[in-house]
Amino acid sequence: MREQPTAAQPVFRFAPSPNGFLHLGHAASALINQRMARAAGGRFLLRIEDIDTGRSREEFIEAIGEDLAWLGVTFDEEPLRQSQHLRGYQEAADRLGAMGLIYPCFAARAEIHAAANEMGMQLDPDGAPVYPGLYRGLDPAEAERRKAGGEPFAMRLDMARAVALATERAGSGTAKQQITWRELGAAGQLELAMDDPLAWGDIVLQRKDVPTSYHLSVVVDDARQGVTHVVRGKDLIRATTIHRILQVLLDLPQPVYHHHDLVLDAFGLKLSKSDSATSLRSLREAGWTRGDVMAKLGFRGVA
Ligand code: GLU
Repeated sequence: MREQPTAAQPVFRFAPSPNGFLHLGHAASALINQRMARAAGGRFLLRIEDIDTGRSREEFIEAIGEDLAWLGVTFDEEPLRQSQHLRGYQEAADRLGAMGLIYPCFAARAEIHAAANEMGMQLDPDGAPVYPGLYRGLDPAEAERRKAGGEPFAMRLDMARAVALATERAGSGTAKQQITWRELGAAGQLELAMDDPLAWGDIVLQRKDVPTSYHLSVVVDDARQGVTHVVRGKDLIRATTIHRILQVLLDLPQPVYHHHDLVLDAFGLKLSKSDSATSLRSLREAGWTRGDVMAKLGFRGVA
């Protein structure tokens, strides 16, 4: 029988997006989380990040369950599926809207690229063009007219305003650097980390097709699931500054973060879901055991 959670228990989570099969990198993340949760006497939860209606597939959700079971990764609660919680994200967006921090953007991707190019193409930490501000400051009457005409739109965060308000709320003066987070280092030491949120520009908080985005759902759900320790790959470390700003603005608790090293391929590149060679499924079909995966990832003993 599952044990009842206690208030002081740490909570960890693994949060895959079901748009492909899990690979060795996901295995590393799930196993590291499980090991840390056990060592801390904590709980370990699964969250299916299936808000991308175009790419998420039921078959991948089933495969996630099978692959994790094969790996010996188990969870303390039924998984949370983001697609079933859209109302909560809308409520969070409404709160940011009431603070005057989000605005509608009617631009198509090609329009954004063209405008960004003209302005010298600044790239965000993910390598995408920083939004060139096309619809920031659009007359609200005009926005309403276009919405009424059925034009699709995304909602973007006015990052400069969000940073200013979050810094004020955090009671730490005006420097953007004051938005910090607590990062557990590789040796287990707790450090104060910081990054520049403005490097991301006005990110999308609600997509044209769903009333949320990765950044908005991740902070809402880490709070909803009572997550105290966010353990994920280093590819997400620079997004953490956005998550902290949203947590401050939405009055959500602050988890501890740990960004672990990524599993790289033979060329030193991050593994990709489109490369089936490292999927857990194909490794299993090729005769790998759970022990082989653990050995490959450098795990000793029981994860
Ligand atoms: N769903 C994200 C991914 O699969 C991970 C989100 C997170 O751990 O914050 O890359």
